[in-house]
Amino acid sequence: MIVIGGNFAGLSAALQIARTRRQVLVIDAGKPRNRFAEASHGVLGHDGRSPEQIAQIGREQLLAYPTAHFVEGKAIRTERQQDESFLVELESGIRYQSQRIILAIGVVDHLPEIPGLAERWGKTVNQCPYCHGYELAGVSWGVLYTGEASLHQVKLMLDWSDNVILFSNGSDHLSADIRTDLESHGITIESTPVESLVGEGESLSGVKLKDQRTIPIKALFVITQSSIASPLVSQLGCELEDEAFGPMIKTSNLKETTTAGVFAAGDVARPFANATLAAADGVLAGIFAHQSLVVSSNPYHR
Ligand SMILES: Cc1cc2nc3c(=O)[nH]c(=O)nc-3n(C[C@H](O)[C@H](O)[C@H](O)COP(=O)(O)OP(=O)(O)OC[C@H]3O[C@@H](n4cnc5c(N)ncnc54)[C@H](O)[C@@H]3O)c2cc1C
Repeated sequence: MIVIGGNFAGLSAALQIARTRRQVLVIDAGKPRNRFAEASHGVLGHDGRSPEQIAQIGREQLLAYPTAHFVEGKAIRTERQQDESFLVELESGIRYQSQRIILAIGVVDHLPEIPGLAERWGKTVNQCPYCHGYELAGVSWGVLYTGEASLHQVKLMLDWSDNVILFSNGSDHLSADIRTDLESHGITIESTPVESLVGEGESLSGVKLKDQRTIPIKALFVITQSSIASPLVSQLGCELEDEAFGPMIKTSNLKETTTAGVFAAGDVARPFANATLAAADGVLAGIFAHQSLVVSSNPYHR
């Protein structure tokens, strides 16, 4: 079997398959979504470890099984063969063939184009307070409005910071009722569009607004839109579904896509980005991809 993508979801799927004693090959391009962060948090047994350390431990444990294989590289083409198997071609031109494919390719975040934001991503600018809030707690926080979900997010922030500012960035989506509600929770709203983020190196000291005021904050949270940056999904004919933060591959409860024999796991096939949940998806995809080789129907299928 071939697993495309070798981080939380892919390594976890491959581990299940390796333990069935069948051959499994993980192909990985080495660009996990969380590579901008120095540490991963809330991951049981790995709390505070760097993303690279966790992946390395995962790879080492996987490759201890003689049926597991790992290749660095990017899969760029895949197609179904006449015998129902799949051909996968890497950028290097190397080709592999497999009875089943698991797509664990993750997604790509689209960051707002605000000078100073991208270089602080994963450090003092983050998406998830559960992942990085604890380390940044107790100082002034900002939330950059990027849509409805920011209004939900901003209220959560009060558990980490007593001084929370919502930067609406000139959006006219904040009705008087919404403003009153947020202000009643003690949240300050800044309506002037944002010009840039300022601070020494990767640290953040404030948000500079278009009217040239600088509002001091030390951490900013931003909900991003994401996309699937690979032609493999359409080449395989997998259906997508629109989630709040971007398109995802549609899967059954067994993590099988709408294309028979193709499974998908992790951020590419779930709306809530989280390392543990991606790994859990990988378990499902690995187990049920294996079972699909052995049995034609599955009692767990809903
Ligand atoms: C800045 C940041 C910090 C985060 N911190 C945390 C945290 O502390 N705790 C937490 O639980 N979650 C955190 N997350 C969320 C977490 O990173 C994701 O939920 C998790 O990485 C998803 O795992 P995945 O295996 O689905 O995808 P990814 O980790 O993105 O891995 C996908 C892999 O597939 C590879 N790939 C893609 N296309 C191809 C191809 N065509 N061929 C071969 N390989 C390919 C990529 O290079 C990559 O290595 C964070 C996210 C971000 C953005």
